[in-house]
Amino acid sequence: MLYFDHAATTPPYEEVVETVAELMRRHYGNPSSLHKYGEEAGQLLKRAREVCAAALAVKPGEIIFTSGATESNNLAVKGAALQYASRGRHLVTAVTEHPSVFESCRQLEQMGYELTVLPVDEEGHVSAEQVAAAIRKDTVLVSIMHVNNETGRIQPIHEIGARLKAEFPKVLFHVDGVQSFGKLPVKLKDWGIDLFSLSGHKIRGTKGTGLLYVREGVKLSPLLTGGGQEFDLRAGTENVPLIVGLAKAVRMAAEGRERFAAAVSGWRDIIMEAVRQNPALELNSGTEAPHIVNFSHPAMKAEVMLHTLELLGAAVSTKSACSSRLAEPSRVLLAMGRSGNAASGGIRISFGDSHTADEIRQLALAIQEMTTRLKTVERRLFE
Ligand code: PLP
Repeated sequence: MLYFDHAATTPPYEEVVETVAELMRRHYGNPSSLHKYGEEAGQLLKRAREVCAAALAVKPGEIIFTSGATESNNLAVKGAALQYASRGRHLVTAVTEHPSVFESCRQLEQMGYELTVLPVDEEGHVSAEQVAAAIRKDTVLVSIMHVNNETGRIQPIHEIGARLKAEFPKVLFHVDGVQSFGKLPVKLKDWGIDLFSLSGHKIRGTKGTGLLYVREGVKLSPLLTGGGQEFDLRAGTENVPLIVGLAKAVRMAAEGRERFAAAVSGWRDIIMEAVRQNPALELNSGTEAPHIVNFSHPAMKAEVMLHTLELLGAAVSTKSACSSRLAEPSRVLLAMGRSGNAASGGIRISFGDSHTADEIRQLALAIQEMTTRLKTVERRLFE
């Protein structure tokens, strides 16, 4: 079975697995301890922070390690809203955000905050104008993702950040960069980003790891209080082996970004062409992110297509992994104006740098074969 669900999670690099295993065996000290074991663990943690900071071109003191991007997003959105509540209680986000941002905003709404949810156009984009028009005197945070996890659509982060910094310098700008880091250029300082989330397991690192970049000078209210770890922003003994594994993956993703994008976007184009061969299939993705293809069949359930592809040897996704067990149509595809059927029928194929050209050929053939089988089913249904 070939794995084409890299936007859900990725196979960790062998180097990452080996490093984590080695550290778990040998460096189990608590970085807060004062003896040699603690000091060694503390050094590893410090080094991991430096490596991540270098990859993002920021300062080590601006990196907070978390359990993943869900936590990073929760900490960014709720931490900023709670910290700056005296400044205002209005937040701006987009309808296509990942649930970890969207539901954090909704939770704040239930606590009395006001939320503006920006619609997107039929390609899934918001504009800097829309964001600027939504800002009020009491707006504290704008949270817009870089690359959408279902469709690969890219938001104009650079323009939004520039507009916010020029016209509304007090409004904080959070970006969920989970699907963009390691795939596209990311310039936190140049783009006016105050908070940036990424996840270890989407870049061939370890599950249960992530980080949040918090620009120097920005304060957050911690979600986990206790021993004061992570600059008082995230209490709990740091998982040093996994954090070092994360740092390794972050470095490899940053260094390999251009190679990744060149290889993977070629494969994406081959698969988009295979999808276009069947006029009944509607592409929901464009040629924006290098690693995601999303399509629907207006009359065919996504599960039928997914299981047909699975029988043909290819593991793909319906919607995003975290919502693929929910029966509702995709919020993202509905927001792009797709019909209820098409929004329920989205198939996401996502690539990584572990594939070979031969695997891509096999996937293209599987899509062709799926198309033939679906036509037979359609004929049986409608004749
Ligand atoms: N944000 C986006 C865009 C994602 O794709 C994901 C993962 O599905 C997350 C956040 C959550 O990441 P994690 O699995 O590390 O909590």
